[in-house]
Amino acid sequence: MLVVMRAQATEEQVRAVCQKIEALGYRAHSIPGAQRTAIGITGNKGEVDAGALEDLPGVQEVIRVSKPYKLVSRDIKPDNTILRFQAPNSPAEVTIGGTDLVIMAGPCGIESREQAFATAERVARAGAHFFRGGAYKPRTSPYSFQGMGEEGLKIMAEIRDRFGLLIVTEAVDYESLDLVDQYADMIQIGARNMQNFSLLKRAGRARKPVLLKRGMSATLEEFLMAAEYIMSEGNYNIVLCERGVRTFADHTRNTLDLSIVPAIQRLSHLPIIVDPSHGTGKRNKVTPLSRAAVAVGADGLIIEVHHDPDRALSDGMQSLYPDQFDALMAQVRQIAAVLGRSVASSPRSARAFS
Ligand code: PEP
Ligand code: MN
Repeated sequence: MLVVMRAQATEEQVRAVCQKIEALGYRAHSIPGAQRTAIGITGNKGEVDAGALEDLPGVQEVIRVSKPYKLVSRDIKPDNTILRFQAPNSPAEVTIGGTDLVIMAGPCGIESREQAFATAERVARAGAHFFRGGAYKPRTSPYSFQGMGEEGLKIMAEIRDRFGLLIVTEAVDYESLDLVDQYADMIQIGARNMQNFSLLKRAGRARKPVLLKRGMSATLEEFLMAAEYIMSEGNYNIVLCERGVRTFADHTRNTLDLSIVPAIQRLSHLPIIVDPSHGTGKRNKVTPLSRAAVAVGADGLIIEVHHDPDRALSDGMQSLYPDQFDALMAQVRQIAAVLGRSVASSPRSARAFS
């Protein structure tokens, strides 16, 4: 159920409706919009009695949301969600979901301080806003590189300070989620965990925004339901990420499903970015698919870049050389302009390149 408040409804009236919903034993989610506030109701097993809410002051109407996903749906919030980040060591703001595209870049995994710093310097120079890199790597084989753990997070925190880059990194379980919440600006939930419902709920109780990657065989509805799990716990700052799904095609590692971008945008107010690195698994396909992702209307890109990909401990084959990333950024800027969008210059810290 959804309570739509009148455009002129006061904060007290919104609060009173939320209190009434909670008193009925449900959970109220107040979602302010450009025109008016909507209040989502979750936690109900059956029908909510609309009569108890309809006559409260400030209420315009009470409507049933027929889709299984509610809080992530455009029904509850017609205007796009825009996430806002304070850039480290800078008064600038980085947004996701507005006119500006967001660019996240970095290695697959944090392997050493030297490797992370060398790569961070190049992606910061090229204009990335976020530095990516796994401190915890969910690998298909238990014998593959598993990441540096908290040590890796500490290196990323140093990079944040040194280069003015925001940090996004993956959490794989409760313990790592708490640590990522502490060190990073954004918590990544990987494809393999998209239906780890207890982890999603925990991310819903975290302080930081969540980057939710699409599972490799997830339908659009399953993807949105995963986001709904996070939102239902009270974390409304979510960015979706298309990273390719498994098909019969074997010329790429996965099949990057760019058609999901407009499909999601039609149904949900959440921003969606694209990961052409995992989406293709091949370095020579990352730049063409990045161009396509921007052209299709994605709100940004997450790209694997390594200062020495031939020696990378994971995903070297799909990691760009820094020079290739420079070229990608130049192309993306041009395509963004065609669509009336832009890539904001990255708010790197003054001492980054001194
Ligand atoms: C990653 O971004 O490093 C990663 C492991 O991606 P995915 O979860 O999409 O496979
Ligand atoms: Mn990777």
